Amino acid sequence: MGGQRTDAPAGRAALETAAARIAAREADVYAACRPRSRAAHERGRGARGFYAGVPLHWMTDWPMPFPPLVRAARGARLEDVDGHALVDLCLGDTGAMFGHTPSPIAEALASRCAHGLSAMLPTEDAPAVADLLVRRFGLPFWQVATTASDANRFALRVARAVTGRKVLLVFDGCYHGAVDDTLVDFADGRTVARRSLLGQAVDLTATTRVVPFNDIGALEEALAPGDVALVMAEPVMTNCSMIQPEQGFHESLRALTRGVGTLLLIDETHTLSTGLGGYTAAHGLEPDMFVAGKAVAGGVPASIWGFTSEIAGRLDAIRRTAPGGHSGIGTTLSGSALQLACLRACLAEVMTAEAYGRMIDDAGRIAAGLGAAIDDAGLPWHVARVGARIEIVLRPEPLRNAAEARAAASPVIEAALHLALLNRGYLMTPFHNMVLVCPALEPGDPAGFVAAFEDAVADLARAAREA
Ligand code: PMP
Repeated sequence: MGGQRTDAPAGRAALETAAARIAAREADVYAACRPRSRAAHERGRGARGFYAGVPLHWMTDWPMPFPPLVRAARGARLEDVDGHALVDLCLGDTGAMFGHTPSPIAEALASRCAHGLSAMLPTEDAPAVADLLVRRFGLPFWQVATTASDANRFALRVARAVTGRKVLLVFDGCYHGAVDDTLVDFADGRTVARRSLLGQAVDLTATTRVVPFNDIGALEEALAPGDVALVMAEPVMTNCSMIQPEQGFHESLRALTRGVGTLLLIDETHTLSTGLGGYTAAHGLEPDMFVAGKAVAGGVPASIWGFTSEIAGRLDAIRRTAPGGHSGIGTTLSGSALQLACLRACLAEVMTAEAYGRMIDDAGRIAAGLGAAIDDAGLPWHVARVGARIEIVLRPEPLRNAAEARAAASPVIEAALHLALLNRGYLMTPFHNMVLVCPALEPGDPAGFVAAFEDAVADLARAAREA
């Protein structure tokens, strides 16, 4: 760690000026050593082919001038076609939380390939997966979908059906996937449509209410009319920097929802990073519904959603009398043979106490190192963490809600750090530089990443003081 810094800390404006210069310099460095990725990108942006030159438009939303073309990803390493090997701390924004293609997943895939991927019928893996889900996550009834977005949509539909209520309540700054009903914001004390959402055709604010996280008074008021079917919540907000629940928040959330007959869904898609069974198991939460996606089948598209016996009973009663036909729940590939095989392998052999032990130890070491580097550089920031997931928060105090997170964020500082770490061999998530630690890091990786971060923040702080 460097020596004591004696200069006055740089302010936000100076940091942002310095960050803009650093981001431009690092972008040039990145581009200069990736001729093949650049050529592919330029070719891809022609008059036909992938829109925006990529299979999904948000693949260009990273801070680099063009995405690297990935040649291979294995364990915690990702290699591009230009021959750069990166330590992957993004892990596909959680899809590869336990490392790229752990061998039980590769074996399950190979074996399933020999026996068929999709038949719209259960396979012999089904009872084992159901057992694993009940044991691992506590709730008695489960369904399988393809993405966490799907699982949230289906769970919401069930919640509305069984409560006979229409309103959904979410927390400001949430992201639960491409789920229209959740894509609202909180501004000037009320729910507003999220401005970035394209093609909005209905007024989502008529059936979705949003309140700030950690605001029990606002929550109580929003639930008071008794018309809320479901509260959908991440237990720690991870999509708007990282916002931890304050002492007593989850107890109040549970008591208030129970008090007015509102169901509570905990979306653990990201917070599975906490440990076995997710944040729910670690903190004894008692949700009525539970969702997880992305990582639950080792990177193969699958998600799971579970619910209580009471919900199952109410759903049975509705289905007995409902006309047959489309329920609005499920897609052709939901619960496929492929998903069941990979869910089984992941839940039984990949998502283990031992794997979590390694991830969380490494993440603890990394978080401590990043915090020390921030202090040494004299930067008014801190590091937040939920198990294997780490966030660099650009203000000294913990965040209470999304308004504070938005005020603390700085896209230019985040881009400068992202690019600086990328050029030093470490790939962080493009969204607010989230760092996820998989169990496949090599022994020198945590210290290597901390040293690279130390170097990058010292450079930024120095440049800001000179700005
Ligand atoms: N829930 C949470 C908490 C998420 O963070 C995300 C995606 N970042 C989703 C759901 C949606 O996942 P997917 O894009 O795989 O549908």
